[in-house]
Amino acid sequence: MTACLSRRKFLAHAATTSLFLVTGSRRRVSAAEHEQSHLLAVDFHVHLDNSTLDKALELSRERGIRFGIVEHAGTKQNEYPTLLSNDADLEQYLAKLDGRLVHKGIQAEWTDWMSCFSPKTLAKLDYVLTDAMTFTGKEGARVKLWTRNAAEQVDMVDKQGFMDRFVDWHVEVMRREPIDILANTTWLPAGMLEQWELYWTPERMKKIIDAALKYGIALEMSSSYKLPKLPFLKRAKAAGTKFSFGSNGRYPNMGKLDYCLEIARELDLKEPDMFVPAADGQKAVQRRTW
Ligand SMILES: [Zn+2]
Repeated sequence: MTACLSRRKFLAHAATTSLFLVTGSRRRVSAAEHEQSHLLAVDFHVHLDNSTLDKALELSRERGIRFGIVEHAGTKQNEYPTLLSNDADLEQYLAKLDGRLVHKGIQAEWTDWMSCFSPKTLAKLDYVLTDAMTFTGKEGARVKLWTRNAAEQVDMVDKQGFMDRFVDWHVEVMRREPIDILANTTWLPAGMLEQWELYWTPERMKKIIDAALKYGIALEMSSSYKLPKLPFLKRAKAAGTKFSFGSNGRYPNMGKLDYCLEIARELDLKEPDMFVPAADGQKAVQRRTW
């Protein structure tokens, strides 16, 4: 009885969320179809930093949103609460997620993370996600552009000049790394984010979109940053890129996809527009060389 009720509750919840509209269908559908379409609402950018897998799964069930877990991965030069740095770390992580109702991902760090793992172990992941928010600073330092002293470490006095280099960096990340998802797409450092339209010119948008298409990379719609904004997304959709939803959430903020769902409805995104983890043999780490 409890199971029955919770299933009913789940389906009722699914029916009230907007994702169903994402599929664009207005006909009456069966409960199974309903459930399936709802499961397309996946938060592919979930961190377990201050939580546990069990707690995250509890939220996943409550919110009716499936999670893709992305532990940070790369060389020890990258500083994160948890960092997977070799095959043994990655195998242990994969074993932890095995058999649980999640997608298995990593958030790859810098451009040398591939050197930490064997292609065979990487291929056990469902997907690899990264962003372009760690940038080359003076003397080649890895600068996290969201940190307070980033402006001192990176030459950002000429903001338009920085922006050109930042866009080139995005393209470089996509060219060099076998990633499936570019996260936090069109994010900008403080002091620039407020004037997003000024920096994301059509030419710059095109460079990101062209690279995403060229390398088969999905572009994340971030519910935490409420990015990218519509002008970018409309161009990306028209060009045929795939999208993923991401909260970049730590507990209890994972699965909060309001911005993504709202904007997906506005763009009339349908199932083929959305990223799904590639079949074995088609994952970025299997398609690409590095
Ligand atoms: Zn993240």
